[in-house]
Amino acid sequence: MLIIGGGFGGLFCARRLDHPAVDVTLLDRAAGHLFQPLLYQCATGTLSIGHISRPLREQFARQANVRTLLGEAVHLDPVERRVTALRPDETSFTVDYDVLVIAAGMQQSYMGNEQFARWAPGMKTLDDAMNIRQRLFTAFEIAETLPPGPERDSWLTFAVAGGGPTGVEVAGQIREMATRTLANEFHSIEPEEARVLLFDGGTRVLKTFAPDLSDKAAAALTELGVELHLGVHVTDVRQDGLTVTPKSGAPSQDYATRTVLWTAGVEAVPFARHVAEALDAKSDKAGRITVEPDLSVPGHPEIFVIGDLAGRDKLPGVAENAMQGGMHAAACIRRDVTGRRRKPYRYRDLGSAAYISRRRALLQVGPIKVAGVLGWLAWGFIHIAFLTGLSNRVSTVATWLATIARPTRYHRAFMLGSADEHEARYTWSSWDQDGVRPPRPGITKA
Ligand SMILES: Cc1cc2nc3c(=O)[nH]c(=O)nc-3n(C[C@H](O)[C@H](O)[C@H](O)COP(=O)(O)OP(=O)(O)OC[C@H]3O[C@@H](n4cnc5c(N)ncnc54)[C@H](O)[C@@H]3O)c2cc1C
Repeated sequence: MLIIGGGFGGLFCARRLDHPAVDVTLLDRAAGHLFQPLLYQCATGTLSIGHISRPLREQFARQANVRTLLGEAVHLDPVERRVTALRPDETSFTVDYDVLVIAAGMQQSYMGNEQFARWAPGMKTLDDAMNIRQRLFTAFEIAETLPPGPERDSWLTFAVAGGGPTGVEVAGQIREMATRTLANEFHSIEPEEARVLLFDGGTRVLKTFAPDLSDKAAAALTELGVELHLGVHVTDVRQDGLTVTPKSGAPSQDYATRTVLWTAGVEAVPFARHVAEALDAKSDKAGRITVEPDLSVPGHPEIFVIGDLAGRDKLPGVAENAMQGGMHAAACIRRDVTGRRRKPYRYRDLGSAAYISRRRALLQVGPIKVAGVLGWLAWGFIHIAFLTGLSNRVSTVATWLATIARPTRYHRAFMLGSADEHEARYTWSSWDQDGVRPPRPGITKA
């Protein structure tokens, strides 16, 4: 069995296949399972990389039938049942399979405006979180060295595109960081004066939650000092600002800001698009692959697509769907091995939660709706329960308790400069300076 992706779907699938008769290879382009729901806490200095990412190798050290490989799947040959992957040094290797589970997830989408990515990083990977952490803390540092005026103001203005859970969480955290953590650390600037602008095309934030919970979230954000701009589309992003266009037809408006974060959309990772072509499978606009009721690809009972990539019955892009999908694919494989019929996948909605700020979070489980301190406690318990590894759980709880007790954030370290250039300046990374992003590697040598 080959599983591509060690996110929530791939991890739970491999765990469920703990059987000596099943030989599992888990391939991921990253070395660790990433707990995406807490990425924004890593980006804003509350948690470290280690808190939200656990090495897959360590995860499966005691499950002898699972081997983990580091590599990015780039090619699928469904006839030979073979996947080609790139090692980090850009050489390639192949892995053969009898059964393939594709759990490669989604990436940030700029909805056709790829040029925005240069100035507005998304929030999907550890690299994104570290990039955002660098930009946020550096913005305050640069502002400290500038005289009062429009340029300094633009460094102290932070824009977030997208009013879903990630946008709301990161906007709240920037304000909380400015008003609590950084408040007394600077001499020239007042970090509390940092403006945080949140833009969304809808009529309310967190639109997957009930309207009264959305209203509570909006009130809490406003109280924190986040400026909400609803019913607008971000139509341009530049080095020194962005433009938003109201859906009402009112004139567009420019905002001067040096930090724009993009959380406004998702699309399938490039490998999923290649898979759809290779299998002649249908996919939706975002690239989710249409699957049968058992989550296999039509005409290919040996290939499952699970998690965010599975396109069926409007399955939600949440961790719970990926975990349940992973366990379902594993159950199908076990049934195949013992000659029993597969069952159709049924997603059970266990509710959703969103963090706004200290003592404020939302939780919605069926008819149960909780906000404020109770929601915050429930949010904390849920996230601890799903973090991988006991030591991660213990150290995350300890870090949270310390952060509650004191305004400090313990994981603010960020990188400047470059390890591969001896005399590189401590500045933004080079592609940011000259606008030339290194090309994505292809397969260079076998
Ligand atoms: C910032 C953020 C906050 C979120 N908050 C919540 C929340 O509070 N609650 C909730 O339920 N959900 C939340 N989600 C959504 C949830 O994280 C996803 O639904 C879930 O991670 C999907 O699981 P998956 O296994 O389908 O994909 P992922 O978890 O994304 O895993 C995909 C894996 O595939 C790997 N991969 C990708 N391409 C390749 C390739 N070509 N070759 C090899 N490996 C590859 C990636 O490295 C990754 O490890 C959040 C997501 C984000 C980004």
